[in-house]
Amino acid sequence: MTQPVADASLPNSPFLRIAVLGAGTMGHGIAHAAALALASHGGSANAASVCLFDIDAVALARAIANVSANLDAGVARGKLSASARDGALAILRTSTVLADAVHGADLVIEAVPERVELKRQLLAAAAAAAPTTCVFATNTSSIPLRKLVSALPDATRFCGLHFFNPVHIQKLVEVVQAADTGVATLDAAVAFARFMGKEPIVVRDVAGFASSRLGLILGLEAIRMLEEGVASAADIDKAMSLGYRHPMGPLALTDLIGLDVRLAIAETLALEIDPVRFAPPALLRELVAAGKLGRKSGEGFYRYDEG
Ligand code: NAD
Repeated sequence: MTQPVADASLPNSPFLRIAVLGAGTMGHGIAHAAALALASHGGSANAASVCLFDIDAVALARAIANVSANLDAGVARGKLSASARDGALAILRTSTVLADAVHGADLVIEAVPERVELKRQLLAAAAAAAPTTCVFATNTSSIPLRKLVSALPDATRFCGLHFFNPVHIQKLVEVVQAADTGVATLDAAVAFARFMGKEPIVVRDVAGFASSRLGLILGLEAIRMLEEGVASAADIDKAMSLGYRHPMGPLALTDLIGLDVRLAIAETLALEIDPVRFAPPALLRELVAAGKLGRKSGEGFYRYDEG
């Protein structure tokens, strides 16, 4: 494969035209961080672009509103300049048409719900419309890449780019190296994570990678403790935040991630690693069935006010 070529004005970026598929919790954050990195390194709307794609136009409108609000908050806190914010917004666009979103893309990052068939179908459709030189990455939290790769025409151009929520703040990116990921793809993915100001770690293609596998155990055990009445949600969280200096307790973190997302990850890891260790607790299933998905729906283990 040929290494993606960087524009002379952006010497550190292996990718200049990026499509992000799925504009939810993660997709809008990835688009924000990519557009800001490109704009901050001097990328203009002519030289660089980030297109956020979703089948739901309402999700796209919400995503742009969230990105704008988060960029504004960055300016208000003195973390970034008004011109960097404006540059990022100029680079960012949205589309509900997949072929339009991936047209001319050199990197496609998929961030749709944690379902193997959905991801496979979308990756295949995106590859059919994208340039043959395009690199594809998945933001999956738990699905082994070997289950997705055959949807793509070139396995050497596929890797994992697992970002963390909220993406514009969290430093970690797991770069997942599948069996056939090419060296040039891996190097470009690591370089792009660094270009975005992130700290990449390279992880082998095992379900749950390095982060979700450990984080989920704590989250599931906290839910089981709540079911058993060991303590209140707030006190279980306090035990971890004060006792172990975690920045956030496991139940509050589950609300932030999304209870539906955590359930999907638990189901994948129960299937792939151990059906007992990763068995989703009944309470998690009940809350998801009731539409209590955490912050994004206004209620999970805690209630959240509008805004
Ligand atoms: P989400 O439910 O917030 O957003 C998913 C988005 O995908 C929605 O806007 C939905 O409209 C869109 N979508 C659904 N089908 C689509 C299709 N066919 N084409 C285009 N868009 C489609 O989900 P999320 O939390 O952003 O999770 C996305 C991925 O990122 C999952 O694989 C998840 O495991 C992973 N992830 C999540 C977190 C987290 O904290 N939430 C962290 C790391 C990784």
